[in-house]
Amino acid sequence: MKIIVLKFGGTSVGSIERIKKAVSIIQRYTKKKYKVIVVSSAMSGVTNDLVRKSQKISKNFNASEYDVLVSSGEQISCALISGRLNHIGYNSRSWLGWQVPIITEGDHKKSRITKIFKNKIIKYLKSGGIPVITGFQGINSAERITTLERGGSDASAIMLAKFFNAEKCIIFTDVEGVYTTDPNTFKKVKKIDKISYEEMLEMASLGAKVMQPASIQDARLNRINIEVKSSFKSKPGTLITKKKNISANRIITGVSFTKNDTKITLIGVVDKPGVAASIFEPLSMNAINVDMVVQNVSADGRQTDLTFTIKNEDIKKTEKLLRNNKKIKFQKILIKRNVSKISIIGVGMITTPGVTYRMFKALSKQNINIQVISTSEIKISVLIDKQHIKKAVKALHKEFELEK
Ligand code: ASP
Ligand code: MG
Repeated sequence: MKIIVLKFGGTSVGSIERIKKAVSIIQRYTKKKYKVIVVSSAMSGVTNDLVRKSQKISKNFNASEYDVLVSSGEQISCALISGRLNHIGYNSRSWLGWQVPIITEGDHKKSRITKIFKNKIIKYLKSGGIPVITGFQGINSAERITTLERGGSDASAIMLAKFFNAEKCIIFTDVEGVYTTDPNTFKKVKKIDKISYEEMLEMASLGAKVMQPASIQDARLNRINIEVKSSFKSKPGTLITKKKNISANRIITGVSFTKNDTKITLIGVVDKPGVAASIFEPLSMNAINVDMVVQNVSADGRQTDLTFTIKNEDIKKTEKLLRNNKKIKFQKILIKRNVSKISIIGVGMITTPGVTYRMFKALSKQNINIQVISTSEIKISVLIDKQHIKKAVKALHKEFELEK
């Protein structure tokens, strides 16, 4: 049996007209002799509205009732899709997570799918039916309704593709795919034909708008090929796949950037074993996301400077935690708002020397000062002044010939 999973995001089922369009897409795939499993998220705006309602009832809305409530949007869209499929002559029915059942583990609001029972769906597919399964939801061992994190119907689609051994998993959304950089800010962007899971995860600051990052991790672990494409235009999208499938002659795949970062520098930190841990432990306990970290070599062996970045909204909390931290000693704190992390990402850099140099050179030609540098196997990031974002991204895009 050739199974294909087709997932529709909120905007792709955002109105009655859109649902009709989604159904005509489903119809196309049944004609290609696929057995189609449909997964849908809620009509756009519905989940947000349910979240708001829960907040109006109580600031401490019970987590298990929250899941019952916010998962209900998917019931509506799936019934409408099935109803439309019936209308045009197909056998179709909807399945809620618990009816399949889709088993999850973990806390409410952020459960993870661990198993999907296949029997009923397989039987239905064999009889020629089109199952339409609610994304975003499941059931736990206490037989309570659960939800995955927000945006989690992507994860539902990927786990369905895994358990049903689907030949393909297509994510229909409102963009044409993943771009070399943010298409809303830059004109000369190009759609990426193929990107590896690893690159996609590194490009989260851009990619998160396309797919939920946790679901890409699920796809990576289970080696599921994902095609992301628009449900509005019929054009090829982006394939998210294994590194091995990426062309060897491409060095850089994309340029990503952040906007709301702040650089914190602790000057004159008394340097002794455990000091970095003492600095960062209270920050992590308070859910402050620390990104780039650089520690200088201490010239005299006693004192050092330590620099790291956080999000703008965490400045006050971070400063307070640092000043009240009895375990560390330092001379002063420097806080620099409005910095931006620009990254070039590409599996090609593993095998290509000189990429770092080309990046720095391209930025220096634009007179952009680099404040902090960090690298991983497939990414080089620099911290620069936020006012230079556009100039920097354009220069890097050009240097690595991404518009071609
Ligand atoms: N409807 C859910 C949400 O808005 C799940 C999803 O869209 O993937 O988060
Ligand atoms: Mg979504």
